[in-house]
Amino acid sequence: MQGSPIVIVGGGIAGLACAVRLAEAGRPCLVLERADRVGGLLRSETLDGVVFDYGPHVLFLDVPGVGENFLRQTLTGRPVIRHPFAFAVAAGGRMWQFPNHLDFLRYPLRYKIEAVRAALKRRGAPPPEPISAELELSEKCGPGLYDLLFRDLFAKKALTPPAALHHHWLARVDRTIDNAKEPFVRRGKAAAVIAALSRLRQRYWYPAGGLGDVPALLARRIEAAGGEIVTGVTDIALTRENGRITTITADGRAITPAHVVWTAPLDTLNAALGSDAPALPSVTMRLVMLTYNRSERTPRPFVYTYHPDPAMQANRVYYPESIFRERGPADREGLCLEINLEDAAEPEAKPWSGPWPTWPGWDCTRCPPFGLPGWSPCPRPCPSIRWITRRSWLPPPPRCGR
Ligand SMILES: Cc1cc2nc3c(=O)[nH]c(=O)nc-3n(C[C@H](O)[C@H](O)[C@H](O)COP(=O)(O)OP(=O)(O)OC[C@H]3O[C@@H](n4cnc5c(N)ncnc54)[C@H](O)[C@@H]3O)c2cc1C
Repeated sequence: MQGSPIVIVGGGIAGLACAVRLAEAGRPCLVLERADRVGGLLRSETLDGVVFDYGPHVLFLDVPGVGENFLRQTLTGRPVIRHPFAFAVAAGGRMWQFPNHLDFLRYPLRYKIEAVRAALKRRGAPPPEPISAELELSEKCGPGLYDLLFRDLFAKKALTPPAALHHHWLARVDRTIDNAKEPFVRRGKAAAVIAALSRLRQRYWYPAGGLGDVPALLARRIEAAGGEIVTGVTDIALTRENGRITTITADGRAITPAHVVWTAPLDTLNAALGSDAPALPSVTMRLVMLTYNRSERTPRPFVYTYHPDPAMQANRVYYPESIFRERGPADREGLCLEINLEDAAEPEAKPWSGPWPTWPGWDCTRCPPFGLPGWSPCPRPCPSIRWITRRSWLPPPPRCGR
């Protein structure tokens, strides 16, 4: 391809999706990725034969949409796994299933009444911005259910009081490129019922090799269309003239870009521009992937379960078994725990594996997986459990006390 390339910084799904569209439209493009492989948060890791995803576990290709259509096209002709999709919130001694709203029929009467009241409540004009996640959700499901399922969960996930969380956090509504806010839209009752019913039939599409297949497929398409991908880029500098980026220097290689598309975190853009803008607030998410022996396969109906209980450090447990089932190893199962902490300054550490650790304040009877319904009692000390974390967020593992 001839001419100045469009330079895309960051080889996550956003950068790769952008590059593949450009390359296949015949535009010269160059992807610069800091890591040694593309994918960013969309990638898979295999531990003891169990495939784990780092980021999304679910690509909803059943529903129409730009992203869904793009991913469906990417996976065309590839083996995909399709199952009904469900997750659950573990609270009040039961699993609250989503999006299976038939579970509503089994709700305790008090919550049924509240939820029906909330659904039938007549509402006037939306309240003035900012509208909190708390307001939006407690209006939708009623205050009792909100308190039980979501209040503590949001605080654990976002490390912010839910009353201070903007409702865009909940709906994952982004601002536009001009930083305009999406309006707060209240759906009509009929639309809400239709959306709920359609979710009952929702299935996820999952590449048979793990979500890591997606960036690998996109990278091949980009290169086949003449685009270039450079990984392991450690140093990017931008030169600006009259408000335009005229040169981008990547590890000493100077490039005159036609355009620059920045999909890496905004803070890295500010640093490359030499801006003294304050760092954006962030949460450090620790993903702990562990595997353990099993004598028999237990069905895992939920892709993940959320855990609002403040006494439990993990806010979410992801079950690769729910997706792979008989495709995974027969005698070994894996879990991935998501734990959000504020100490973002802690340096990245090498993956570490060893016996299951304990740490101060950890109550093993509540410990995932053993504190969850249907799990065997804690077999400590348990040499069959291996775990891996991308950060050294735990103290060195002492022996279990029991
Ligand atoms: C545990 C978890 C669960 C999730 N679950 C879901 C889900 O179920 N459904 C869903 O839709 N989404 C989910 N997400 C969100 C989803 O993973 C992300 O929104 C998406 O992968 C982000 O893609 P991206 O390309 O924007 O960013 P990233 O994937 O972060 O890509 C940015 C890339 O830029 C690179 N980079 C950073 N700095 C530089 C630099 N200076 N120079 C060059 N490159 C740089 C990084 O290495 C990275 O590859 C989940 C995320 C997590 C962590």
